Amino acid sequence: MAVSEPDCLFCKIAAGKVPADIVREGERTLAFRDINPQAPVHVLIIPRDHYPTAAAAGAAGEGLLDEIAREAHEIAEAGGVAEGGYRLVFNTGADAGQTVFHLHGHVLGGRGLEWPPG
Ligand code: 5GP
Repeated sequence: MAVSEPDCLFCKIAAGKVPADIVREGERTLAFRDINPQAPVHVLIIPRDHYPTAAAAGAAGEGLLDEIAREAHEIAEAGGVAEGGYRLVFNTGADAGQTVFHLHGHVLGGRGLEWPPG
C-alpha cells in the first residue's frame, strides 16, 4: 500500500500542502474540520498514510480503524457531543457517497441525526 498518493487531496492536507482547520494530530492520524459541515460538529479523521477506503485499511490489519474510533470519541467529548450522541461514518465507495478516496471517518454531532441516512 502506498504511503502517499501525489494527487490525493487528503494526502496533501496530511503533508501540510493544503490548509485545513486541524483539531487533533496523532502519530498516525490527523483530524480536521470538514470544509462543508453538515452538523455543528463535523470533523474528518484520516490516517496519514494513504488507504483509499475503510475496507482497505481494515484489510491492512494495522488497527487504524480502532484508533479512528477512539479518536472520534475524544473529538466528540471535546466538542461536547459525546453524551448526547454522535455519528461516526465511513462512506465506502461511490454508491455510498464517498468522494475523496483517502479513508476518512466523519464525526458528526450537535444536532438530531435522522435514520436511515439519505
Ligand atoms: P466523502 O463524501 O468522501 O465521505 O467525504 C468527503 C468530505 O471531504 C466531504 O464532507 C467534503 O465536504 C470534505 N472535503 C472536501 N474537500 C475538502 C477540503 O479541501 N478540506 C476539507 N477540510 N474538507 C474537504
